[in-house]
Amino acid sequence: MHNDKLFMKLDEILNYISVEIGERLTGSENNKKVEAYAENYFKNQGFEVELQRFSCLDFKRADAELTFQGETIPVKPSYYTTGCDVTGDYVKIETVAELKRSHLTDKIAVLHGELTAEQIMPKSFPFYNPERHQEIVRLLEEKNPAAIVTVVEKDESIFEDGDFAIPSVYVSMDEGEVLLENNGELKLVIDAAREDSHGANVIARLNPEKSRKLVITAHLDTKSGTPGALDNATGIAILLLLSQLIKSEDMDFCLELLLLNGEDYYSIPGQLAYMETYLQKPENILLAINCDGVGLKKGPTAVFSTECDSKTEDLLNQIILDSTGMVFIDPWVQGDHTLFVMKHIPTVAFTSEGIFDILDTVIHTEKDTIELIDHEKVIKAVRVIEEMVKKFKLEVPL
Ligand SMILES: [Zn+2]
Repeated sequence: MHNDKLFMKLDEILNYISVEIGERLTGSENNKKVEAYAENYFKNQGFEVELQRFSCLDFKRADAELTFQGETIPVKPSYYTTGCDVTGDYVKIETVAELKRSHLTDKIAVLHGELTAEQIMPKSFPFYNPERHQEIVRLLEEKNPAAIVTVVEKDESIFEDGDFAIPSVYVSMDEGEVLLENNGELKLVIDAAREDSHGANVIARLNPEKSRKLVITAHLDTKSGTPGALDNATGIAILLLLSQLIKSEDMDFCLELLLLNGEDYYSIPGQLAYMETYLQKPENILLAINCDGVGLKKGPTAVFSTECDSKTEDLLNQIILDSTGMVFIDPWVQGDHTLFVMKHIPTVAFTSEGIFDILDTVIHTEKDTIELIDHEKVIKAVRVIEEMVKKFKLEVPL
């Protein structure tokens, strides 16, 4: 296929996913629209498509109001919080030691300092869950305050956990200072809407009858409040475009184009569902390639590979180094490639080198728009992966 047509297609896909649809939280209506769009797209290219379903929550953005001494303090509900309507004295807590000593029954806990220095990992998050975070969650559940107000440095929810039942909000340092300087009674109303929902991984396969496969992944969900252009509409686009370029006769193995659903959801349900069903026999996966954050205008496309044998390394080196504008960098852990790396599956991951500089300022915010994207870099990634798949030869015959 000519590159002109690919550029046109890319433009169409990015506009649909990141502009027309935009935010696409796992379990939401928008998320389901992207599922259906990808399913149809792959089917039109002759792929067999499985929707691997799982249960999750659909968190509709909630409103919250905090009142202190007759004044309203602007707060935002924590992601996935439950609702409440409570009035009570508040208790300021800055450290784990203070939390241990506190009595919080019928009180509102105002957390600040070291307790809100970083996001607390969700209870059920399986891969990274520091003991310190678990301890804070455990203590809060024991002390069971009526609600929690977190005073935060960064404009970011400290709790993001559908399994944590204590209602909570977050407030900026500036706006929350008045609470830290005073004492008294607070009224907190959170109008939250969490509904039972479901989502699905979209798994498209060519040569599905072959037992060994090459898997290419991207995630189809976003965080709340972001159009998710770099994170990860470009990844979705790369997979959709690959489905147009690779035919079943191009290889003697199964090609799986895997849109995982839940990379940015608190308990990564799609990833866990895939692991349980399809990563029990990791030796069947010849190579996994993940795309997340590809196409940033500023800086080159970045790649790392791990667990590959020397033949695969040689192939990758030759293809990547031949293609201008791509660089090898040190491994990073954030992203779905970790699922495969943990199982020692040969893995390659693509992102943008510059993305690490904008993780806190652009990614997961309303600023992650298609204006950031260099179409040429995305098409380059498509072509590089296409070449990898077509040149990849089985060492062990089927
Ligand atoms: Zn991502």
